[in-house]
Amino acid sequence: MGINIGTIIDRLHKERMLLAILTMVGLLGAVDVFCNSVEKGDNIILLSIKWFSISFLFASILSYLMGTEKKPIKWITSSIIALYGLLCIANAVSFLFWGFGVSCRMFTIIMETNSREVGEFINYTIGNFTSTDFLLRFGVFALITAAITLGCKKMGGKAFLLTSLPIAFIGLISTFIQLQSTTEKKNANIFIRCALDLPRTLNSMQDYNTTQQLSCGQENLYETLQGNGDIDNIIIVIGESASRKHHSIYGYQLPTTPLLEKKKNEIIVFNDVTATYSTTSESMKMFMTYKNSITNKDDWFKYPNILTIFSKLGYKTYWISNQEKNGFIGGCESFFSDKCDTSKFVGMLFTGDNLQEKYDDALLPELSNAMKEDNPKKLIILHMMGSHGEYYRRYPKEFAHFTDENIEEAGRSFLTKKKKQLISEYDNSILYSDMIISNMIDTLKKFEEKKSLFVYFSDHGEEMYDVRDFAGHSKGYVDIPFIIWASDTLQKQMPDKYKAMSESTEKPISIENLPDFLLGISNVQYKYYDSTFDFTSPNYKLEERYADDKPYHKGQCE
Ligand SMILES: [Zn+2]
Repeated sequence: MGINIGTIIDRLHKERMLLAILTMVGLLGAVDVFCNSVEKGDNIILLSIKWFSISFLFASILSYLMGTEKKPIKWITSSIIALYGLLCIANAVSFLFWGFGVSCRMFTIIMETNSREVGEFINYTIGNFTSTDFLLRFGVFALITAAITLGCKKMGGKAFLLTSLPIAFIGLISTFIQLQSTTEKKNANIFIRCALDLPRTLNSMQDYNTTQQLSCGQENLYETLQGNGDIDNIIIVIGESASRKHHSIYGYQLPTTPLLEKKKNEIIVFNDVTATYSTTSESMKMFMTYKNSITNKDDWFKYPNILTIFSKLGYKTYWISNQEKNGFIGGCESFFSDKCDTSKFVGMLFTGDNLQEKYDDALLPELSNAMKEDNPKKLIILHMMGSHGEYYRRYPKEFAHFTDENIEEAGRSFLTKKKKQLISEYDNSILYSDMIISNMIDTLKKFEEKKSLFVYFSDHGEEMYDVRDFAGHSKGYVDIPFIIWASDTLQKQMPDKYKAMSESTEKPISIENLPDFLLGISNVQYKYYDSTFDFTSPNYKLEERYADDKPYHKGQCE
């Protein structure tokens, strides 16, 4: 054997000061784990032991390599250590200041050199570096690091062996467990985090460049707009992966939407609405713009979008999202949010920081604040986290109402306890969304003197072992809830329009025609408006619907 334990220990003992510093620096690469976990009520001591030991293990490898006599190995290792330290420190600083660690979001913001965010970014930075909070944290960390390093200096060979072996052992087990975890894998080491985020970063950069080029020179698209828009406040709430059939208001056997059911007489519940695609981004491109599957089939960004349309009509536009701005693929959310007068991302800022997620109740105060603003006309878009994958992360404990025992087999012999558990978690996320949507409607009721229109729908459905042994996004799974609420003032002052909506609940509707509905209901004339796609128009005639580029047949998700 070329390597024996004795020489490894000897060499590490010789490099123990470096080992101590690298171990501490490595912790900075996982700082988000600590910050989030304190809030979650995790045991911070156990957590520290875990991450310390993982960091120790990696630091041991680097220190061992640094102890070599061979120059090239020493040089390469020095470069790796420099990069490692830099990334770990960047991660900690970015996280403490802006709430996200090293990620594609960081690179995107750096690239957005002329956007308003850079200004905000710099302002935050100056303030944060000198804040007592930062200095205190930094001071405590530096003191602990110094204490450990000096303690190591005095440590004899035997004491070193007795301390490092158990730490290395715990580190080995922890690393192994960490690499099995889908949500925390990346935090095991800053290099793993960067490697996992690289494809996203490249995607994000590409998207950014494309949309930047394309969003210029489109002014002429909006020249033919006529009218003022008859509605004061239009609030559009985009749900996430909420399958129509899992809502009790649509007949689901478990009471997943009790609050909306209580409001049944105040809301209009549409029974046959579909999305055009089964992924967030593709679906959003359809309902936010005049692209459709029948007449406007060119690239989505070549068509007018509802944000610019309403902005031209004098509305203040808001984008309030609990999803990330820089999406994994086709980040159109960033394109749309940039079109708004106000854009706010309330939750995690980037998928890689999924430990930072917020529940959808983070949207509620934002809606309330937007409604209180003075502007006479508003278009407010709210983007929920809804029933996004890892359903159990979408609701607080109080909403963990359903368990696997509530899920009936109903002919599905493939349903194991674990699968039933997943279904119940999905149903809990719907239950939580029910509270959020109902709460939003209650907020709007406080502004009854306004003509307000509230529209809720999901971006697409989600298959949930409904008919076969599969759960998740699946092609053609596009049956979505679609619910409208209108203020008393709107109902009184626009009775014909309200009646037209109320009488449309059984019509086949595709959410891609949202722009035609919004313009029709607002009495806006526009070259792009097509009354045959507006379900409130007597001319409405939707010949065909599409789901993931295939003709949609009613009942295909049953
Ligand atoms: Zn989605």
